[in-house]
Amino acid sequence: MADKVTRRKFVLTGTAGLAAAAAAPTFAQAPTVIMKKSVKPVVIASANGNKFKNGGQVTGIEKAFSMMTQGSDVLDALIAGVNIVELDPEETSVGYGGLPNADGIVQLDSCCMHGPRKRAGGVAAIEGVRTPSLVAQKVMDETDHHLIVGKGAQEFARAMGFKIEDDLNTDRSRKAWIEWKRRTDPLHYLDPIKRQAAIRRVEFEMMEEGWVDPNHFYGTINCDGINAKGEICGVTTTSGLAWKIPGRVGDSPILGAGLYVDGEVGAAGSTGRGEANLYNLTSFLIVENMRRGMHPKDAGMDAMKRIKANTVEKRLQRADSNPNFNINFYILNAQGQHAGLAMYAENDVSYAVCTENGAQTIPCEPLLAGKSTE
Ligand code: ASP
Repeated sequence: MADKVTRRKFVLTGTAGLAAAAAAPTFAQAPTVIMKKSVKPVVIASANGNKFKNGGQVTGIEKAFSMMTQGSDVLDALIAGVNIVELDPEETSVGYGGLPNADGIVQLDSCCMHGPRKRAGGVAAIEGVRTPSLVAQKVMDETDHHLIVGKGAQEFARAMGFKIEDDLNTDRSRKAWIEWKRRTDPLHYLDPIKRQAAIRRVEFEMMEEGWVDPNHFYGTINCDGINAKGEICGVTTTSGLAWKIPGRVGDSPILGAGLYVDGEVGAAGSTGRGEANLYNLTSFLIVENMRRGMHPKDAGMDAMKRIKANTVEKRLQRADSNPNFNINFYILNAQGQHAGLAMYAENDVSYAVCTENGAQTIPCEPLLAGKSTE
């Protein structure tokens, strides 16, 4: 057997072997075709990717997986998937019905990145468009730029034919904002550090009382996919931090922070405290870790440790000096391996995965024990 293998290898790879094969029909066989190793297609996302259906039959990752495996461009498929979540008024952290900023205005952030084309596009603090991911894709496809923000982003969307609405609040998001305003207005004259602490206390109260879903206070959808040809893309879209200062832009539309894709290596995206991703460019770091051969889980844990090490301000720490916020990574490599990670495994934090075997929601692996608020 060993001899047979050696001889076959010789015939297939050596010049002399090729000549011998031509002369000896007993070894003739179909020509060797060098192909990029095929990959089992997979779509991964934050857990909301396998929850919201906007009144339809399928979740975001099911839609993305089905389009992708029927031949759609990977990014088109992922964006069609997140559109379901953006348009669902029940999801209060993304698109239409996303919780508004401190002035009660819904401002949305998104970016997308196309691995094979090595192009990307983003919008930040855009108002009046329910599907910022589609506007981000237009920035990628129709301009030489990556990021368009604020009024300019809205005017760009209008010019591209998007419907511009006066207000993206739903009754639910407006009521939650009014309640937030009522509770925080008396605090405006406190010094900034006390005010920050007081606002955080109000936020936790509102989560505990059910005004805001704890999983969606920091909420967003990131969705990444790879098709059978090994083409990788990703998209992140969000209404950002609830009650943010108007004009605040988080990590979601910033390449390397809330999303990064390298077509040859993999994709990484994030939800959670955007400022931590911006300070550490963790999506880029994770992709670079995978480029050096790390498995998605190890690549992400390394980035999670970087955030922990760089969180030195007391106001951002628990009593034991660990971070007092959660942050999640969704990571996919060019072999189709994936991981979902969290700083803490609180609130059943999980991620969504869709393969040929169907969609499921899997617990994220935590770096630290306990909860962000201990
Ligand atoms: N990471 C996003 C941000 O900071 C959204 C979130 O997950 O809260 O804007």
